[in-house]
Amino acid sequence: MKVKVISVLEDNYMYLVIEEQTKEAIAIDPAVPHRLLEILKREGLKLTAILTTHHHWDHARGNEALVKEIPELRVYGGDDRIGGLTDKVVGDQELKFNSINVRCLFTPCHTSGHMCYFVWEDGCTDPPAVFTGDTLFIGGCGRFFEGTAEQMYHNLTKVLGTLPQDTKIFCGHEYTVKNLKFALLVEPENEKVKEMLTWAKARDDDDKPTVPSTLHEEFEYNPFLRLSEESVQKFTGKTDPIEVLRVLRKEKDNFKKPKERVLPHAMLALEWGLLRP
Ligand SMILES: [Zn+2]
Repeated sequence: MKVKVISVLEDNYMYLVIEEQTKEAIAIDPAVPHRLLEILKREGLKLTAILTTHHHWDHARGNEALVKEIPELRVYGGDDRIGGLTDKVVGDQELKFNSINVRCLFTPCHTSGHMCYFVWEDGCTDPPAVFTGDTLFIGGCGRFFEGTAEQMYHNLTKVLGTLPQDTKIFCGHEYTVKNLKFALLVEPENEKVKEMLTWAKARDDDDKPTVPSTLHEEFEYNPFLRLSEESVQKFTGKTDPIEVLRVLRKEKDNFKKPKERVLPHAMLALEWGLLRP
């Protein structure tokens, strides 16, 4: 099973899951339709379905234009607010596209109708993949716009956290460096966080994506999946995992990059030798 990663907009990802034998493809969150159509044409692929993680503009905005272009296209999603929706799905519903299997995972919180999609191919030894939209990021998790810490806890630990450890994580945004800077603030002693941050910064410099990671890796450095670790509990001052998550998300909402720039008047003072650097 081939997954094509396509960077779009400022930091979004859209994806194509390709069945190589039939050259049929499924798109996840195709927010820039003309880019997708170009790729389909260039690679001789036939798009049969769209899986939409949630209704936000930067994930669902391409659906209607693609349906106009490919009238038989099916558009799946878990929220009536999704543009071009033809098939509303519910949690644990399974879809089949030839040898490609999809299990819809209902993960409300970022939005009340958010779906993740767990995908595997019959007779293929590749590990499965999960498309996590704005629920689970590499090194982080999505904002709680329409839900609660209780819901996100359920999503992360019971729904996503119980998938096979080798599942590849394909998330909705390239937020990895910023997420890991926060992870390092939470767990300054975590060597995995440091290693991953160094790697992610290098990828960023080369303008290369950091997706996918694996679920196993996320458990090592993503503080939102490490709610029972002593270091994470210490940072939040809580022990109940839902409370740990609630505080963690709140801290992340307020997390800003430490100021690196010196204020202009301080620069002048430095130049004039009035201040020591
Ligand atoms: Zn979103």
